[in-house]
Amino acid sequence: MSPRLLVATANEGKLREIRALLQGIALVGLREVGIDDLDEPWDDFVANAVAKAREASRRSGLPALADDSGLCVDRLGGAPGVFSARFAGAHGDDNANRTRLLRCLEGLPGPLRGARFRCVVALADHRGPLGPRVLRVQGTCQGHIAPEPRGDQGFGFDPLFVLEGASRTLAELPPDEKNHRSHRAHALARMVPLVRGYLGVGWNSSV
Ligand code: IMP
Repeated sequence: MSPRLLVATANEGKLREIRALLQGIALVGLREVGIDDLDEPWDDFVANAVAKAREASRRSGLPALADDSGLCVDRLGGAPGVFSARFAGAHGDDNANRTRLLRCLEGLPGPLRGARFRCVVALADHRGPLGPRVLRVQGTCQGHIAPEPRGDQGFGFDPLFVLEGASRTLAELPPDEKNHRSHRAHALARMVPLVRGYLGVGWNSSV
């Protein structure tokens, strides 16, 4: 039987994406180990991902993978960043967050609308060989903010974000394409070999 790995997210979409990349490893979600959600107490992506991975591993006794991500807009000095989910106040109100962002950039031409998504993924294994150490990687994707929302796929700022060299927003791309090109995909592509190496599970093993 392959080792179990806790994916410390309550977001079903992220869990699906991670499951597809980590075939051969028995994954469990937060709900399965009785954890509702985890705090993101810091104003820094790395610190939040590390804190969540540590906390999840400590509470479950399992190796745990956690991420923190957000949108960094050049014109806003990198905001909303770690505060992306609550940019407009209420946590997770995507519509209000997009409206606020459009207001902030109102009237600015394309070259002044640069932005990037960032994602940090961390692996902790409190009771295992890692001990207090935490492995972490980062993925980014560069682009700009469109003048109005377009598309109905994805979540969050997807309807406003156009990848560098593309014309469609992330919400106009088929989910598979977004999942290959996103900041999260880039971070996970770096983390997957580390996880497989750490857990001793090769690419060809089955669950
Ligand atoms: P978290 O990593 O789940 O805390 O995400 C923070 C917030 O960043 C989300 O609520 C979105 O507003 C934004 N965000 C992170 N990743 C994405 C993405 O892939 N597309 C659109 N918005 C995202």
